[in-house]
Amino acid sequence: MKKYEDTYQHKGLRNQLVKLLKEKGITDENVLDAINNIPRHFFLDSAFDKIAYEDRAFPIGEGQTISQPYTVAYQTQLLQIKKGDKVLEIGTGSIYQSTILAEMGAWVYTIERQKKLHEAHKNFYFKNKYPNIKFFYGDGFEGLQAYAPFDKIIITAAAPFIPPKLVKQLKVGGMMVVPVDEGDVQRMIRITKMADDSVKEESFDLFSFVPMLTGKNG
Ligand code: SAH
Repeated sequence: MKKYEDTYQHKGLRNQLVKLLKEKGITDENVLDAINNIPRHFFLDSAFDKIAYEDRAFPIGEGQTISQPYTVAYQTQLLQIKKGDKVLEIGTGSIYQSTILAEMGAWVYTIERQKKLHEAHKNFYFKNKYPNIKFFYGDGFEGLQAYAPFDKIIITAAAPFIPPKLVKQLKVGGMMVVPVDEGDVQRMIRITKMADDSVKEESFDLFSFVPMLTGKNG
């Protein structure tokens, strides 16, 4: 059984991580506060307890990973999250990114295509603390038409292209942040939906994600 203990040592390491993220250019205080408040080691196997606050991705089973803290902070900052935002996340994975968004006051709708990872939400340690996270098993390329439109959409896997159905599920004035494939690495793209339903596209840095795959698994 995993022990959920947030010690002074963990808190100290988390402080160091936040300092590092600032040095790397993260300026949104709400993002930094959320990272400071959420014990990342709770989202990992206890074998990673001592290294959970290194700025690295780690395996979470099913060949998937928890994103690097810098990547989580970078995508969240680009989304300009405000309290009450309705956010669609593609790729629940470890639930860490979902929790950061929920801690910032967003209503989070998160989709995972790997059944085993999706089902892990039943034992989610913070399920009472964050009733503002809703979990869905499905294919992120389809989005969640029944709950659309969304203020923000975040894709946490490498998309081969910007999924057109997700653009449709975005509110006018809403933003989607998505790493788009350029071979071995992905370019972080932010699109903003304009009043005439066209999109403004901005390009940011290169990252490396696990692939966004079609269909469900399991
Ligand atoms: N946000 C996660 C990152 C997990 S890695 C975290 O904080 O831990 C990316 C996740 O996207 C993996 O769990 C993978 O199974 C999932 N994924 C890939 N393609 C998908 C799709 N089409 N729909 C939903 N989830 C997908």
